[in-house]
Amino acid sequence: MKLIFERSVDGYYNEMISKCDVPVVELPETMKREKELHLPSLPQPEISRHYTELANATFGINDGFYPLGSCTMKYNPKINDEMAAFPAFANIHPLQPERTVQGSLEVFTMTERLLKEITGMHAITFQPAAGAHGEFTSLLMIKAYHEKNGQPQRNKIIVPDSAHGTNPASVAMTGMITVNIPSDEYGCVDIEALKEAVGEDTAGLMLTNPNTAGIFDKNILEITKIVHDAGGLNYYDGANLNAIMGVARPGDMGFDIIHLNLHKTFSTPHGGGGPGSGAVGCKEILKSFLPNFYPVQQGEQIVFTEPADSIGQVKGFYGQFSVFLRALTYILFLGSEGISSASKGAVLNANYMLHELKDIFEVPYGDTCMHEFVISLDRLKKETGVTALDVAKGILDHKMYPPTMYFPLTVPEALMVEPPETESKERIDDAISVYRKLYEAAHENPEDFHNYPLHAQIHRVDEVRAARHPIVRYDFSKE
Ligand SMILES: *Cc1c(COP(=O)(O)O)cnc(C)c1O
Repeated sequence: MKLIFERSVDGYYNEMISKCDVPVVELPETMKREKELHLPSLPQPEISRHYTELANATFGINDGFYPLGSCTMKYNPKINDEMAAFPAFANIHPLQPERTVQGSLEVFTMTERLLKEITGMHAITFQPAAGAHGEFTSLLMIKAYHEKNGQPQRNKIIVPDSAHGTNPASVAMTGMITVNIPSDEYGCVDIEALKEAVGEDTAGLMLTNPNTAGIFDKNILEITKIVHDAGGLNYYDGANLNAIMGVARPGDMGFDIIHLNLHKTFSTPHGGGGPGSGAVGCKEILKSFLPNFYPVQQGEQIVFTEPADSIGQVKGFYGQFSVFLRALTYILFLGSEGISSASKGAVLNANYMLHELKDIFEVPYGDTCMHEFVISLDRLKKETGVTALDVAKGILDHKMYPPTMYFPLTVPEALMVEPPETESKERIDDAISVYRKLYEAAHENPEDFHNYPLHAQIHRVDEVRAARHPIVRYDFSKE
């Protein structure tokens, strides 16, 4: 398909911007562009067709089953978008005086109050723009905490080898050092390895529970105690709270600080890089280190404050307002019963699908799971030569999105499946029958698999070349 620049024909234009009704001020010479902007010239119907064609080439949650493990791709209720588009919210400006936007500031304090209840934390900031950004913010707070307590030598963060890749990356970003510890056969923390890893230099532990394999670590209280006894803090990667929201609270498990991906669990459309919200919640001991612009009620008004030991600002202004507005809408719409039944539904869906597939696929982590499960196609590969990648590409031909592939790294030919609560039993049954059909087809016609997908917009791509030589910018010099 052509890029919009390649469709451009000189002479066409669109007058969509209304006439300027304020005095035009000339920019100083030094600030003026040297070259003209490359704006494509097209009539409006062609622009509309271009974007419709692009939309048709993608696959999203509104197109079909989307069980991408670790991503919680749930259906996002339309009422969220209605609220986000509500003119009284959508038309305000971040530089407006606080007293003129009190209703919007209440969105901060109300969402904070509800998320505190859900997580067991004592304060929440909405500054971070995504999950990894929330990790980074939390780690800066942990670092500042140890420095304030006269223990700057605490610079090691313990991360189990099953952790999400962003965890060690965020540690590196803050200048601290990752200490990897192995997990046991269920992907859970190896207690002995943890005991050996903690010490005078431990800043903290980063953990996801349930872990990335969809298993709840039953030793969680012992784990967080070991870290506390050694003088470290416990950080909870709450990107996917979908398995426990309304049922169990990280705050009660001994965690001191947590990030939430509001764009996963709390239903904002995601993928393609945002916008998201990696809200960070902390216990009282870390509250004074929160980023700047922490809203509090002072008398009649809500105002932004700078906490005493603040790590400063991690984002322009106040965070992705429209994302936590969607989260607030979602929570209020579901209510406390709805919130817990959403997570119970997610766990039920995952267990149902796992149960219906476990006779044909290997299940490395046992027969029950939380919100997602891992299967291994290693045996299938040995028997037929068909890989997890081939099967994933085959799934695309059935108008379904494939699950996460080759993760966790400890499982050969892994597929990680997360069918969230918003999927109906009929949809899941369809998916089960597609997975089973592909399993049979792999035994009957294995060679067909190497060309899949046949019916998707884009066929088998050269993944290595795409990763090594991505072309992400249009080359205007050719014109
Ligand atoms: C998605 C995810 C992240 C990262 O979140 P982003 O918003 O993509 O930065 C971190 N940890 C886990 C467990 C995740 O699933």
